[in-house]
Amino acid sequence: MTAGARDIAANLAAVRAQLADAAVGAGRDPSVVRLVAVSKMHPADAVRAAYDAGQRDFGENYVQEFAAKADALADLADLRWHFIGHLQTNKARDVVGRASWVHGVDSERLLRELDKRAAAAGRALDVLLQVNVAGEAQKSGCAVEEVPALVTVARELTALSLRGLMTVPPLVDDAEASRPWFEALRSLRDAHGGAAALPELSMGMSHDLGVAVACGATMVRVGTAIFGAR
Ligand SMILES: *Cc1c(COP(=O)(O)O)cnc(C)c1O
Repeated sequence: MTAGARDIAANLAAVRAQLADAAVGAGRDPSVVRLVAVSKMHPADAVRAAYDAGQRDFGENYVQEFAAKADALADLADLRWHFIGHLQTNKARDVVGRASWVHGVDSERLLRELDKRAAAAGRALDVLLQVNVAGEAQKSGCAVEEVPALVTVARELTALSLRGLMTVPPLVDDAEASRPWFEALRSLRDAHGGAAALPELSMGMSHDLGVAVACGATMVRVGTAIFGAR
């Protein structure tokens, strides 16, 4: 059930404190870790409550739900939307007009379509390549072997900017189980120009955000710990 406004504010404060602790513990500057509040399956009012508590970056997974929510909250001009779900090419236009970031790019076709749509809309678009680091069947994301070619294509495009890599490791309760996958994403980034070329690493969710920050995450995508169960 979606948490009430007061709980959302308290949850946000707790998550921010957890992120800051993890950053300091890893010798990192807490201000470089961006919290993306994942509001999928929660109502626009919950997003508004988080916004009122100072949150500005929000993530959504499903195009229709995202479009409706973004339009309902269009009065919040400095709210930034991150589309973090699997995106079909034919839905790219609905996302480009509304999102500042697209985290789940995993094919040349989608890269080119997003670039075309961003150019047509006169919008800048920041994207992340989603990598299926564990090679799980049925999971979104490109294979590790496809990363070099996709990075090359993305660098030729002019409306979108490739800003980094994103991953969703195999879902298990033990946060430590995510560590090798987060380290794999970071190594992959380091093999493609390092932080100078690809500054962002989007990794870590409610249950493993501390480990993600220890491994170098610059964006964590947190839903349940802020908004409650879905
Ligand atoms: C739903 C979702 C999240 C948030 O997960 P929680 O466990 O609720 O924090 C993060 N990333 C992606 C890609 C998601 O689909």
